[in-house]
Amino acid sequence: MMKKHLIYINLDGFGRYYYDRMRDEQKALPNIRKLVKRGVFFEQAYTGIPSITCPMQSGIVSGCYSDRTGNCDKYWNREANEIVLTGRLNRAQTIGEVLAEEGRTFVSIQQFALEGKGAVRGRKDRLYMEPGGDYRKRFSVLLKLIRENVIEHEGTIYEYPEFPDAVFLYIDDLDSVGHNPPWCYADSEEKRVDNVCRVLEGIDELIGETLKSLEEKGLLDSTYLLLTTDHGMVSYRGKSRTEDLICALKEWGYRVAVCREGNVETKDFDILLTSHDIQCQMFLAEEADNLNVMESLKKRLSGLPYVETVLTAQELTERGVYRDYADLLISPAEGESFSLIPLDQKHLYATHDSLHEKCQHIFTAVTGPGIRSDYRETSLVYNKDLIPTLAYCLEWKQPRDATGRKLASILMEEGKG
Ligand SMILES: [Zn+2]
Repeated sequence: MMKKHLIYINLDGFGRYYYDRMRDEQKALPNIRKLVKRGVFFEQAYTGIPSITCPMQSGIVSGCYSDRTGNCDKYWNREANEIVLTGRLNRAQTIGEVLAEEGRTFVSIQQFALEGKGAVRGRKDRLYMEPGGDYRKRFSVLLKLIRENVIEHEGTIYEYPEFPDAVFLYIDDLDSVGHNPPWCYADSEEKRVDNVCRVLEGIDELIGETLKSLEEKGLLDSTYLLLTTDHGMVSYRGKSRTEDLICALKEWGYRVAVCREGNVETKDFDILLTSHDIQCQMFLAEEADNLNVMESLKKRLSGLPYVETVLTAQELTERGVYRDYADLLISPAEGESFSLIPLDQKHLYATHDSLHEKCQHIFTAVTGPGIRSDYRETSLVYNKDLIPTLAYCLEWKQPRDATGRKLASILMEEGKG
């Protein structure tokens, strides 16, 4: 039997709507389309909450979200009365740790969620390395590995006469351009999306090179290729809605405190608010587990004109979110934010901690032996389901804490049966 391999490419910030926009252009993204045609395209692929890079990147490689990883970007430590940042925390086992445990060889090209979580700098059999630079530089590491069986990094040559069991490649250009930074600033949403689509075209070419090289080396048929992401992106402009929200809460009789991070300076509040950038996390000082209070607050909050979605603690728990993340999560309509930093009123900002469709609905496609080809999966799938499914296909152990489902409908054997 042919030895099977995994290449998992994470294109940070690959919102589904970018792909849809490109798909409307007849000849756009020929190589991603080729990959999609070879395998399964997920019509309803979604990310978790909060849709922020570290929580979601660690969630994907562990097959679970912050109820297991602990990484939800920030939460309120009630006892210490402090807003705690979670940084790169991951309490769950990663697929890298599984591979290390099983004695398999793998390489992580800047997939930082595996650094110190299975992958190690300078260690050939489970190499972590950071080429830096843009997607061209990182793809060139992958292509050299496929074509020449070597990785050159910081003066050391690592040889892989046999292609590694898994290669993890992390690319963040779609995210960086999507955030609309000064060096490629777009003054309208349309131009911002256009900027991202141009980068996507460049990435598509290198995905084409990857497919071609795998084919030339006779590896294509034995390789699983997973293309997914941690979140999309949404833009906003004008004043933050935090003050409006505070006014509404005060009118309803609540004492409100706000804290961005660190110690909350007062204990004298009924409601505490914090925010990453867009969505607002709300904590109730007294009645954290009072369902009725949360439900009635949700109803009132949902009526505010700038609010799009409100989730209660219970609903967040059902989505795999760490309990202390929020008692209520308030996500604004597109264009609005609950930013806690002063905003330049004319500037077009863009980021992704939002329940908006543009942030939650993500691009995902997978191909490989035993996976159906030219198939559109229409059921709801989360990015935490992907690694557990592939671990099953590759006959690897499941990551210990995984809660993601095995997506049986995309497999040939099960699809037929
Ligand atoms: Zn990201």
